Amino acid sequence: MANLSNDILYAALNELSVGIIIIDEQQQVVFFNQWLSDHSGLYLMQQEGKPLDIVFPQYLGSRLSTACESALSLGLPSRLSNTFNPTPLPLYQKNFLGDDKHLIQQQISVKKIAIDSSTPLCQIVIDNVTHMVKKEQTLLKLADENKIQRQKAEIANKSKSQFLANMSHEIRTPINGVLGMLTLLNDTQLSKTQQHFSKLATVSAETLLNLINDILDFSKIEAGKLDIESVAFNLADCIDETVQTMAIKAQMKGIEVIVDRTALIDESVIGDPSRLKQIISNLLSNAIKFTEQGEINIKVNTTEVDTTHLKLLVNVSDTGIGIPRQKCSDLFDAFTQVDASTTREYGGTGLGLTIVRQLCQLMGGDIEVKSKQGQGSQFIFHLLLDKDDHIIPPLKAFNEKPVLVVDSNVNSGQMVSRQLQLWGLDVELCNAKSEMKSLYSKIENNNFSVLLIDASIDTFLLENIFTSLANANKSQSNKTQVILLTRMDNSYAKSSALLTSLMTKENVHTLTKPIVTKSLHRKLTLSYSSESRLSELDDNNKAFEFQSFDDDDDEQVKILLVEDNRINQEVALGLLRKIGYRADVAKNGLHALELLQQRQLSEPYQLVLMDCQMPEMDGYQATIAIRSDDQYQLSSQVNIIAMTANTMKGDQEKCIAAGMNDYLAKPINPSLLAEKIAFWLAH
Ligand code: ADP
Repeated sequence: MANLSNDILYAALNELSVGIIIIDEQQQVVFFNQWLSDHSGLYLMQQEGKPLDIVFPQYLGSRLSTACESALSLGLPSRLSNTFNPTPLPLYQKNFLGDDKHLIQQQISVKKIAIDSSTPLCQIVIDNVTHMVKKEQTLLKLADENKIQRQKAEIANKSKSQFLANMSHEIRTPINGVLGMLTLLNDTQLSKTQQHFSKLATVSAETLLNLINDILDFSKIEAGKLDIESVAFNLADCIDETVQTMAIKAQMKGIEVIVDRTALIDESVIGDPSRLKQIISNLLSNAIKFTEQGEINIKVNTTEVDTTHLKLLVNVSDTGIGIPRQKCSDLFDAFTQVDASTTREYGGTGLGLTIVRQLCQLMGGDIEVKSKQGQGSQFIFHLLLDKDDHIIPPLKAFNEKPVLVVDSNVNSGQMVSRQLQLWGLDVELCNAKSEMKSLYSKIENNNFSVLLIDASIDTFLLENIFTSLANANKSQSNKTQVILLTRMDNSYAKSSALLTSLMTKENVHTLTKPIVTKSLHRKLTLSYSSESRLSELDDNNKAFEFQSFDDDDDEQVKILLVEDNRINQEVALGLLRKIGYRADVAKNGLHALELLQQRQLSEPYQLVLMDCQMPEMDGYQATIAIRSDDQYQLSSQVNIIAMTANTMKGDQEKCIAAGMNDYLAKPINPSLLAEKIAFWLAH
């Protein structure tokens, strides 16, 4: 380094792409490199020895001059950012000298250079940061624009949700009226033709409701407004209930529905039972829709993921029309159907599977399809559930009693046999079609404790089975018990004299298909116990029956219905009458407060059914007044159930926050209404 000549150093400094000025203690220019010449238009040689404030009058009293003084006198280095003064010296882009539009933005470093102690010098290095600043400004502008766009999108999203909430409310309100009125109409004396018309109108209204629910769900998912609940529920019951409510449609088409949950322990889990039901209902309803003959199998199992999580795996397969392989991957996209003719023939929106997939993904899982045209379809989904600490004890086992299962459906027979074996029974399975000949002797020669017989087998076969059974029972002290597996609509049983007479026999019990594990266990327990058949509970029928109340009870219950819509008033009153209650009507929140006050001393109301959106005073305001205003002190504890068409995320919470006890979405489900009323009257 020491050998470098001054010429070389001088040339190197002149080649630099930063500006360099060196000044002495008097702030006179000692050196000025080429870059400065190029950007200031001043000649290098002419500047040496001149005070810097003469070369650049802007220097006088500037931050730069203060920095140079500090460097020279105290040795303090400085870096002058361009934020406060972007162009401290008049320096321009090379080809635009003197044009203020092309002043360059400068970042300046100032440092003392001491060659020996007697000649302190100060070096000023000037960086052109114009490009960097421009880039920063562009980025900032973009960020601002993004922010504005984001704000705009947020506002649009809010309006969309608000629109959805309004639409949901506006559409549900009249559908509630239509469905409710039809329910009431169906209870009146109707001619056959009228019944037919009313049934068709009900189906159409229900279809419309499903359609609206689908579109709303889809939009809610899109807007990120769909909430997944976390409540404790029994997985097996949830699946059984869903299949039970749908199976009748399949059975009416002559399709066998088989639920195999032998691989599922009775699990108490935490998750969203309504969304799980929605997924299964959707897949099942498609399976029923696209299958003309054969069967639908629902296989369920759970595996442990870790100490706190379970993976639920459900496989819904059918023997229907199937799906061409190349179409399978698109089915989960919105508004996709296999082809346009599907809509013509089967209806639908092509939204069901999209919603199903989104729901699975929201619950930590996914769904796939396996299908071939003409060869049925399989939809397999899985999702994650939290384990609940609450342990349900397993159903009691029976010790190795011999049982015979006679089913015309292979899968159904195998599933039942597997289930019975799990309960410790010694099971023999007989296919009603192929093993007919050996069947009779088997019955006569084996001392079966229970015979499970599919009631849909050939009448001749059924008759012979019972004859063989009568022969066997002659030589046995214990009569063999029979569980007849019937279908839900039971219409064929009514038309068969044989079945009707068999059902009245003392040792014959009935159980509807699809078989619910718990009901099967109960029937077996009943068969093995000495209890009379008269006390037998027909679970399947009971679940769908309305509770009826004594007249005396009705008179004591005081319900106030707060509802502004005339038709919905009629609907609610009709439904209440049907389940054994009467109610007074208030046409808005104000009217409700009036009635509550009038009645609080004499006959206070025990329950209020409160609509939310009403003119003059809405349900939220009315509830707040009831709970907090001294005028209604005597009624302040009355139970209030919201009955509203507001079904968006947060609506239920809004009702509870206002002080209501419970929430019912419109259209009102009559059995849920009965359940909630009974619950709140008891509390
Ligand atoms: P939708 O049934 O309302 O049209 P989905 O999203 O539920 O909408 O189904 C989309 C399409 O996938 C259906 O139109 C049908 O073409 C096909 N599909 C769904 N499930 C089945 C099934 N089990 N068998 C045959 N095709 C099916």
